[in-house]
Amino acid sequence: MKNPQNQRTVTTGTNAEHARLHNRRVILEAIRQAGRLTRADLTRLTSLTAQTVSNIVGELSDEGVLLVHAAEKGGRGQPPVPLSINPEGGYSIGFHVEQHRVIGVLLDLLGVTQAQVTLTVSYPTFEQALPLILQTVDTFRQQRPTGRFLGVGIALPGPFSVEGMTAVGPTAMSGWEEPSIPERLQQALGLPVLIENDATAASMGERLYGIASDLHNFVHLFIGSGLGAGLYLGNRLYSGHWHNAGEIGHMTVIPGGKPCYCGNEGCLERYISIAALLEHLGQPDDQDLTSWDLNDPSLLDAVDAWLEEAVPALRQAINILESVLDPQTILISGFLPEPILARLIARLEPLSRSISSRADRQYPRIQMGTAGQDAVALGAAALMILAEISPDYEALLKPE
Ligand SMILES: [Zn+2]
Repeated sequence: MKNPQNQRTVTTGTNAEHARLHNRRVILEAIRQAGRLTRADLTRLTSLTAQTVSNIVGELSDEGVLLVHAAEKGGRGQPPVPLSINPEGGYSIGFHVEQHRVIGVLLDLLGVTQAQVTLTVSYPTFEQALPLILQTVDTFRQQRPTGRFLGVGIALPGPFSVEGMTAVGPTAMSGWEEPSIPERLQQALGLPVLIENDATAASMGERLYGIASDLHNFVHLFIGSGLGAGLYLGNRLYSGHWHNAGEIGHMTVIPGGKPCYCGNEGCLERYISIAALLEHLGQPDDQDLTSWDLNDPSLLDAVDAWLEEAVPALRQAINILESVLDPQTILISGFLPEPILARLIARLEPLSRSISSRADRQYPRIQMGTAGQDAVALGAAALMILAEISPDYEALLKPE
């Protein structure tokens, strides 16, 4: 997959249209956080002029984005009119396209899930995934025939466009290299499209729907066929210059270790990933784990033997991530079945000493994510809502 171009340029100065969009988001974000606010509240909270607030509120209520409630009685002068976000004022769609499944979710403007579909696939190319995406979007649109659709977020396994890494090995999905894919998707869907890597989308999923709701600095390790990390730093997503930040699968953790399909030795993903587990168990490395009987004690014994080898590599990676990023915590989730994930997390103790070994910690150094297996699709859809609402969004990511 061609990485989405980072279109952000220098943001010194502003123009009227930019300011209008920014002020719209400031107002929407203030109302979203408070639930209900009046125009006077907005003027006070946002430092915008009463005229600007009034103009934008008028525009947003005409568009159906804001609900204008009955005036509150009592007091003197004009009674205040509470405003709230209309959940039906906009819809966003998110997809997680990965080796074994395509998950699609429909969210309303408040980020509440309205519909979800999971389709079984096997290493879909873009040409194979496109009709599934179109069909799902069509189904969602039929469910909200008069709805305003903000766009479609699509999350895929990374890394994007790295020579010798993107299309090699058992975790790679081929048929996504064509640079015109984002444009083709946008044309086929008739909606804005944002493409992000799965671990980054998953960290947004955990921030909005899972255990990370109060966190400002965290790393989210996402174990799929391969391994990636989502970086949420300083209260925003960090995706790097080429949208590959956190693609730590090919980080060398065991010098002189297992040879990797990228040409290096001792890459993290060769130890911690579903592909590595399958290889250890002598199974084809493109298998889906959902059919496994996890009550079978012999399987869990074999998993423990894998963990013996995998855990030192992951401890090393955790030490590096903590040392570089100083996160509040590191979350782990993904498609590894939960009992195996729990065993992995338990086996990581004792962790290597790092700058994160502090007595005054509020959170454990390692925690399991709680947003579930839809976290990536939810995060991808949420990114499109943030584009509509959050004033920080432009500093965060930008849709195509
Ligand atoms: Zn490698």
